[in-house]
Amino acid sequence: MILLYREAASVIQNATDKKGAVKTLVLNCRFKNKKQLQALVCETLKYRSVLEKILESTGIQQHEKVLRDKWLALVTVYEFLLGQGFRKDSPYKQAVERHKAALTAELARMKIQAKAKNNSGLLSDSGASEVTIPRYVRVNTLKVSVKEVIGYFAREDFTQVTTSSARFMETVSSLKPRHFFQDPHIPELLVFAAGTDLHDHTYYKTGLIILQDKASCIPAFALQPPPGSHVVDCCAAPGNKTTHLAAIMQNQGRVIAFDRDMKRFSTMNTLIIRAGASCIRSELKDFLKVDPNAHKDVRYLLVDPSCSGSGDFCELDDFIESEGGKQEKSRLEKLSNFQAQILKHALAFPNAERVVYSTCSIHEQENESVVRDVLSQVEEDFELEELLPNFQHRGEGSFREAAKCVRMSAEIDATHGFFVACF
Ligand code: SAM
Repeated sequence: MILLYREAASVIQNATDKKGAVKTLVLNCRFKNKKQLQALVCETLKYRSVLEKILESTGIQQHEKVLRDKWLALVTVYEFLLGQGFRKDSPYKQAVERHKAALTAELARMKIQAKAKNNSGLLSDSGASEVTIPRYVRVNTLKVSVKEVIGYFAREDFTQVTTSSARFMETVSSLKPRHFFQDPHIPELLVFAAGTDLHDHTYYKTGLIILQDKASCIPAFALQPPPGSHVVDCCAAPGNKTTHLAAIMQNQGRVIAFDRDMKRFSTMNTLIIRAGASCIRSELKDFLKVDPNAHKDVRYLLVDPSCSGSGDFCELDDFIESEGGKQEKSRLEKLSNFQAQILKHALAFPNAERVVYSTCSIHEQENESVVRDVLSQVEEDFELEELLPNFQHRGEGSFREAAKCVRMSAEIDATHGFFVACF
């Protein structure tokens, strides 16, 4: 835990000094649980101005030597007041807890002043983003039914609430802790209040539920390969969409999951076993070296290639992106060339009928522009399908068929930034 707080403080400091994007800094540091570290960094950044006001008015840094470092003070006060709370004893825990009364009183005072019902209500008053992404839980229907999981959570003192597509955002923003609802678009998805931690839950550890953002469930949901189909997941690791495909196919047929990165490939294999997805065959291979003619039975392909990851919800990265300049421009150019290459290779499979392209990027260059350029080269064989017509949030920019694609964002859909198109 001490290392977690130190690393989080160092990532925030380096990102603020523009030494790199949060995501890259998190990947490059020595703390093993990257997800936990990224969540702590992003949440601390989100509440940064609230926390700075609290540090200033309580003056705790002047009394506590171990909290002299501003970044460490932000992270540890976040953890104590707004986060998970300290799980283990440490000098930071002791230092922060010595000022428990002053810290909680200041937080309460700020909430009263901002007329905030809960902590996230403070965000609009501080000028920070009001958006929080809920905890999405995909039920692994290969192992358990949605009904059984709902029943299980109800027995664990969670309360199910109802919603509709039209009331989705309203329901998300008023969702109380230990309340949840079934997603109105993707039936196998449950939505819990932001901050609900299910990483230690037995259902998660045994692969009955998968913690997967709603946006990342859209590609497999859009591809909808029927049971018995032959499918290729071109860039598959760590395999969340691959196991989702297997679930949609009820483990009948075959999904070949390619990835060229050894480490991510081995994580994928662990997750495939955990999910009980026996119809998946994984191959450690560069997808561009796969011969399309050796896969004449493949009719469905999912293309989710590496991207800038700019849709990941972390405010400081947005800031760095916008300040990014030349370096960012050439990185996006390289990425979009690579994405187009992978997509074209997928469309070259001789019997491909349906190909879904997705990224977790918000940049038009990696999204609508890739689709436009590739479509212009395959127009004789493929057209774009109007994807999920009842989704309001559509593709953007000058591409004339942009509205056939789907975009998702924190502000409009309560998800990470995402893009999906279907050929
Ligand atoms: N679809 C995955 C999921 O839902 O868990 C995430 C895929 S991630 C966005 C992109 C993946 O593409 C990375 O794991 C990367 O190693 C892989 N990749 C990049 N270039 C590749 C190539 N030429 N062939 C196969 N895999 C590639």
